[in-house]
Amino acid sequence: MRRTKIIATTGPATDKPGIINKLFKEGVDVFRLNYSHQTHEDHERRTKEIRKISKEQEHAVGIIADLQGPKIRIEHFKNGPIHLEEGSSFTIDSRLASNAGDEKAVGVTYKDLPRDVRPGDTLLIDDGRIVLQVSTVTKYKIACEVTTGGELSDSKGINRKGGGLSAKALTDKDKLDLEHAVKIGADFIAMSFARGANDILQARKMLDDLGSRARIIAKIERAEAVENIEAIIEASDAIMIARGDLGVEIGDAALPPVQKRLIKMARDMDCAVITATQMMESMIEHPIPTRAEVFDVANAVLDGTDAVMLSAETSIGRYPDKAVDAMSRICEEAEKQRVTQVSHHRINQRFEAIDEAIAMASMYSANHIGASAIAALTETGSTCLWMSRISSGIPIFAFTRHSATRRRVTLYRGVYPVKFDITHTDPLAVNREIIDHLMNKGFVKNGDYVIITKGDLVGKRGGTNNMKIIKVGEAIEHSL
Ligand code: PGA
Ligand code: MN
Repeated sequence: MRRTKIIATTGPATDKPGIINKLFKEGVDVFRLNYSHQTHEDHERRTKEIRKISKEQEHAVGIIADLQGPKIRIEHFKNGPIHLEEGSSFTIDSRLASNAGDEKAVGVTYKDLPRDVRPGDTLLIDDGRIVLQVSTVTKYKIACEVTTGGELSDSKGINRKGGGLSAKALTDKDKLDLEHAVKIGADFIAMSFARGANDILQARKMLDDLGSRARIIAKIERAEAVENIEAIIEASDAIMIARGDLGVEIGDAALPPVQKRLIKMARDMDCAVITATQMMESMIEHPIPTRAEVFDVANAVLDGTDAVMLSAETSIGRYPDKAVDAMSRICEEAEKQRVTQVSHHRINQRFEAIDEAIAMASMYSANHIGASAIAALTETGSTCLWMSRISSGIPIFAFTRHSATRRRVTLYRGVYPVKFDITHTDPLAVNREIIDHLMNKGFVKNGDYVIITKGDLVGKRGGTNNMKIIKVGEAIEHSL
């Protein structure tokens, strides 16, 4: 069983008949709706299809609504793409009409950009393919010298090297998109270009006001976000290492150490973590990955990521199902390495609550007794999140009656959702039923150890207060 989770982005390529079905078969755990592209109707239609197949196959999957955020873009050129020569001058003009760009100047979506840049700054367009050096700045115009030229077309993204642009994280479009995402029942909201914890708290407040329990993923793609990483992790349920935009702001060479540090920090702080962007980039066009891509996915698994993500590979690529299959194979192989299975058990840490202490004690016991499975009866999935922060090779089954919880735990490494309604079970038969379920599915056999955690009071959040170790095949007298 693969422990690392796979996220696939939807798009025109997944709209082709039968593709979503194939992605289910290849084992996608979470689907991503990219609100930077396409309409609310598209996202709604795809969500319906995903939920329908999920129901038919009794296979829970999560859905991420990824908000566009304040991505700054140049506007349009009047006569199609232009060519910029190295050494020539080019102006970003915030007052230019949106379709009036030419070889000399182009408009920009963020009208306050001139306030945020200084002479000497470097601006990167189209993920750094075009590089501009700022020479002078007036109220509305940023005059630049082209230091790396090339073809430039409409609506390409623009970043400042080193970050520091002041655009707010939740734009008016994001607020409407967030409402839509809540309406269609997205399980996770990804916030693009978050700068600090306040951006996350603002989204959290909006979700609370809308009565949504969707979890928040902070996309780490600005230089400031890396500086404020502790507060962001504290405020978020998950982070995404968004290597595309982040690499533009901090430089591509800085990405590998930042990825490793962020994954470790997220895990230490009980936060989930996604590694994203260009993981299988060549598979947009080709049916097999490059060796470098194979290593990239495997290294993210060794770093301890919860999930690896596919973007254009599945949304517009030619081989969406093959990309998932390749990723899946690579994850499974990397997970066999011992470093992914050893843990330090947080020996020196103080636990905040009883349920957290039970989760940690279970992992310690499971790793040391060599248990074959952990079954956590859970309301919100928190116990499973804590458990999965400890490295181990042992599957953690989230037994829950709540469909929202089953969809949420799809993101956590090594956690598998199981539909189980404890309120319909004789309390004295619960352990028996759990073991029977695991045996019927072939996850455990006679003589194996299974660890079960649960609370005394059924249906109480945060109520997990006991742990039981059962040897499969030995009589289970009662459930207490
Ligand atoms: P995007 O975010 O795909 O929405 O741009 C991911 C990234 O920047 O890496
Ligand atoms: Mn991005």
